[in-house]
Amino acid sequence: MEILIVGAGPSGLTLANVLAAHDVPFRIVDGKPGPVRESRAAIVHVRTLELLDRLGLKEQAVSRGVPVTRVEVYERGRKATGFPLTAGSGASPLALPQDQTERLLVEGLAARGCEVEWNTRLLDLNGGTAVIRRPGGGEEDVEARWVVGADGAGSRVRHALALGFAGKTYDQTGLLADVTTDARPAPGTLRLNLTGGGFVGMLDLGDGSHRLFGAVPPGIAAACTGDEVSHDAYAQVSLEDIQRWFDDLFAVDATLTSAAWTALFRIHSRMTERFRVGGTFLIGDAAHIHSPAGGQGMNLGIGDAVNLGWKLALVASGRADERLLDSYETERLPVARSVLRGTDRGFALEAAESPIATWARAHLAPRLVGPVMRLGPVRERVSQLFAQTWIHYRDSPVVSGPGAGERADPGMTPADLLHHLVVPGEDARVRAEAMFANPPFGMGIHLVPAADPLVRLIRPDGHVGFAGPLEALPAYLARVYGGAR
Ligand SMILES: Cc1cc2nc3c(=O)[nH]c(=O)nc-3n(C[C@H](O)[C@H](O)[C@H](O)COP(=O)(O)OP(=O)(O)OC[C@H]3O[C@@H](n4cnc5c(N)ncnc54)[C@H](O)[C@@H]3O)c2cc1C
Repeated sequence: MEILIVGAGPSGLTLANVLAAHDVPFRIVDGKPGPVRESRAAIVHVRTLELLDRLGLKEQAVSRGVPVTRVEVYERGRKATGFPLTAGSGASPLALPQDQTERLLVEGLAARGCEVEWNTRLLDLNGGTAVIRRPGGGEEDVEARWVVGADGAGSRVRHALALGFAGKTYDQTGLLADVTTDARPAPGTLRLNLTGGGFVGMLDLGDGSHRLFGAVPPGIAAACTGDEVSHDAYAQVSLEDIQRWFDDLFAVDATLTSAAWTALFRIHSRMTERFRVGGTFLIGDAAHIHSPAGGQGMNLGIGDAVNLGWKLALVASGRADERLLDSYETERLPVARSVLRGTDRGFALEAAESPIATWARAHLAPRLVGPVMRLGPVRERVSQLFAQTWIHYRDSPVVSGPGAGERADPGMTPADLLHHLVVPGEDARVRAEAMFANPPFGMGIHLVPAADPLVRLIRPDGHVGFAGPLEALPAYLARVYGGAR
């Protein structure tokens, strides 16, 4: 087996879907018996929906989730302000619990005739030899040319590579719960309660329940769980404790009636210094973890998986040179660093504890946020940050030309995992078709109105790889893909 994926969380499952879509064989193993049961990451952002579209899974995601179209900011139980969440494109994020996202990805794999090997754990990794424990308890040595560590924050693959995971652990404790409450924010609305004591958000999950997410100041959580919340595990918290925090800490004027799931967890902000060592890659939480501010983590891991996936598919099937794989780290490491910086800043605003910060959060923010967010350019910028549509690879060595590395307008080409060449005008189309009588890697050729004279090569992840005159394209393909076939 050439490719072994360790971990079938959202990142590993997405990578498996991309490889399956390219008919590239792989194994994917996970120590758990099946997908997660908890709702964990509950927001699928706009960029991720675009990527799910390329996997053919967007419609099912949308049919199972609730579009989040509006944010309302509450101060001591009263609505202070609100603003729409849709970006200029009109697209909204989706409230979809992580267990459902994972099931969707498992179903996507099944539809392509592939499945996860559950109850199968990586014990050790030495170069390309992985030792796994199979469901019956027996051990197996797996020789793989490429191993992808998608095995989460405690990644055994990362440990085997002796890579660090530098960063910090916050003093505050994260709170998550899926509850029913008499507060009932309107469907599609994210309610943010800001107080000096911290913040708690409430998100409609579409099944009559609401996701609570927030940060509990240091010391308070430990008093409830009777123990410090461990670094990696979740600790349960009682409905009574959350109600008390609602009343005393977050000043939410609402009564909780039941909880399907509650969790307290340590909040980390960490990343590793390398995303690739030889034939071994790290994606998702194995490479970077964040504060929950903005719900970025799962979405970023899915982006990693798509970026690596199409490159690995081309290389493993002999349609591109191995050096294309170098660009996974070059492109995704700076993105992760940037998201880490942004989520740290966001979390500092949400949870900082200095007297000025708590005063500003309780009194200034509820009044300022709405008017500021009604300013078009500010709203657009903030929406892009959350939606991850800002992500670009302008500085990547494998893109070339004006606007290369940018996310292409998603409506420009079919939403699939192929390369597409966008050509301006009929004349360019005729020349392109003559040049690529047998287009490399199944590349489609599409005509667009001749607004400017450049042709654009759109990569399977929706980013512009090349922009320039048609005649320069073969040299680009030779440089970046080697003998592209
Ligand atoms: C409380 C909380 C709230 C969050 N909220 C959000 C949010 O709103 N939005 C967002 O985008 N993100 C959120 N996240 C982050 C999100 O849950 C993670 O970023 C996401 O699950 C990462 O996916 P992953 O596939 O990289 O890793 P994981 O989901 O951790 O999956 C790793 C998989 O690897 C398996 N595994 C581990 N070790 C081995 C081994 N040795 N052998 C075989 N298998 C192994 C595990 O069983 C697991 O299935 C949140 C996270 C937490 C903790």
